[in-house]
Amino acid sequence: MDAGLEAFGETSRLEQLSKLLPVSAVIATVCILYFGYFYLHCLRLFQSDLAPEKQNSEMLARGYWQTVTFHVVTTLLSYCLLRCIFTSPGTVPDGQGWELKPDEEGAEGNEHEGGPQLVEKKHTGERRHCKWCLKYKPDRTHHCRVCNLCVLKMDHHCPWIYNCVGFRNHKFFFLLLVYALLDLSLVSITMFDTVWWSTRVDVSIVTMISLLFGETLAMFLLVLIIAFLSFHVWLMTKAMTTVEFCEKSLKKASYNSSIYSRGFYGNVCAILGPQPLLWFLPLSFPEGDGLTWPPSKESQGRQSLLQQRGSRVSFSSATGDEAQTSRSSRKKGTSRST
Ligand SMILES: [Zn+2]
Ligand SMILES: [Zn+2]
Repeated sequence: MDAGLEAFGETSRLEQLSKLLPVSAVIATVCILYFGYFYLHCLRLFQSDLAPEKQNSEMLARGYWQTVTFHVVTTLLSYCLLRCIFTSPGTVPDGQGWELKPDEEGAEGNEHEGGPQLVEKKHTGERRHCKWCLKYKPDRTHHCRVCNLCVLKMDHHCPWIYNCVGFRNHKFFFLLLVYALLDLSLVSITMFDTVWWSTRVDVSIVTMISLLFGETLAMFLLVLIIAFLSFHVWLMTKAMTTVEFCEKSLKKASYNSSIYSRGFYGNVCAILGPQPLLWFLPLSFPEGDGLTWPPSKESQGRQSLLQQRGSRVSFSSATGDEAQTSRSSRKKGTSRST
């Protein structure tokens, strides 16, 4: 039995270590590209092996601006990466009426007097609750089984940062992608000149292979980041999280029907903060507590219209149900009229 327990403990430790592999790979990639770009490319542009009068001034100028730009962007990227890893995505607070009373689990669990007005409910009309955290779920909150936590405005669990992306670290995650795009573009475009230089016969083969490896890695990651960032920009403009996008995909609902949409500007502010001048700096953060997500006026208008038509509107999940209800009510309307 002891051997069994030891084996179980060993497996558990290995599982924990394996979860750290992706984040370690990200940190290692940042370090490899940093040393490749700075030591093999930027330092070459400074021509420190030549006397000052023999140095090429144009090359020197390129060395200065590329080194400064690279270090500024890499500092911001490293800061956002650390904040993504160490910032809690936000969870349901204790002692604010969200606790599930033991006798209520599995019971009706309907709206409490004076409780928060929730939009997302079960199909039966009950408040959503988490059976692991024993708490009611605010709108847009989902339980992450990896973090073992209910995450406010959960976007997705990201193994590359060993954390969930949620209400409190979403801007860090978004900016991490933006800075990665800038850094990788800078490396891919400007280092090509040094890669070409390294094909000369007087340059060591190790330097040439290292530069070729760095250039290929940067270009490969750039393509991935462009695709991933484009998807997240699109999600942001549609006021959707990745979880909500997947729910809509499963239900084949319209991607334009998010009940939380506040228009383009409002949707960007909901992730990058209310100050447009600070959108691309890790400084200004979205307003609110992540617990309450009142539906937009437009959505409320549609809801009341449907109710007037006698439809039973139930926002049982964050997303597609409104569109589904609209469709079903249209179908009912059609069948009535025919
Ligand atoms: Zn939970
Ligand atoms: Zn998670």
